[in-house]
Amino acid sequence: MRLIHSRIERACAANGRDARQISLLAVSKRQNAERMRALAEFGQLDFGENLLPEALSKQQTLADLALNWHFIGALQSNKTRSVANHFSWVHSVDRLRIAERLSAQRDPDLPALNVCVQVNISAESSKSGCAPDQCLALCKAVAELPNLKLRGLMTIPAPSDPPDPAPFQALHQLFAQCRAQGLPMDTVSAGMSADLEVAIAHGANLIRVGTALFGPRPT
Ligand SMILES: *Cc1c(COP(=O)(O)O)cnc(C)c1O
Repeated sequence: MRLIHSRIERACAANGRDARQISLLAVSKRQNAERMRALAEFGQLDFGENLLPEALSKQQTLADLALNWHFIGALQSNKTRSVANHFSWVHSVDRLRIAERLSAQRDPDLPALNVCVQVNISAESSKSGCAPDQCLALCKAVAELPNLKLRGLMTIPAPSDPPDPAPFQALHQLFAQCRAQGLPMDTVSAGMSADLEVAIAHGANLIRVGTALFGPRPT
């Protein structure tokens, strides 16, 4: 935890950014509730999950804590109702049909569901995310839906060692285009354990970190 915060601070200092503007999402998939509770005691309240049954079970175990749950996994239509009502953020909206279902199924008495549109920035056929050239149209459509609040863009670049800045630059460029079109977005969700410095250097303001916070995921 302290190590991650110092990595964030160093990356910000190197790029003239303010570390207070970077949000840290702790990716707790496959980590148990007790390890999450330990992080929460240090003030980490935002957690990312990609498997619905596992997330719902840990939500029950940790119901005494005021946590913010983020869904970051692939979304099928048959899961939207549960995701819409048990999370405060969804980072993985990649098609309009899913966004429409989340909006229609979100309890209108809850605050709007925060959503990021996931972009397949490296154009890998195996990854989810909308095509970069469809991103603006999808964002405009999502912004019109009630019960959703369009917050920004998310991507998972193709793995590369050392990390490649190009996908992060491309995502930030798309984000700037959306903002120039008047979309009130504030979030660039990019950067993980291995590449958070490069992501921060190129405009990410929400980083999603698992392994570097919790250690290796149990298999
Ligand atoms: C697992 C996962 C992460 C975290 O990856 P680490 O390399 O463990 O930091 C971030 N984002 C998404 C969407 C993930 O599925």
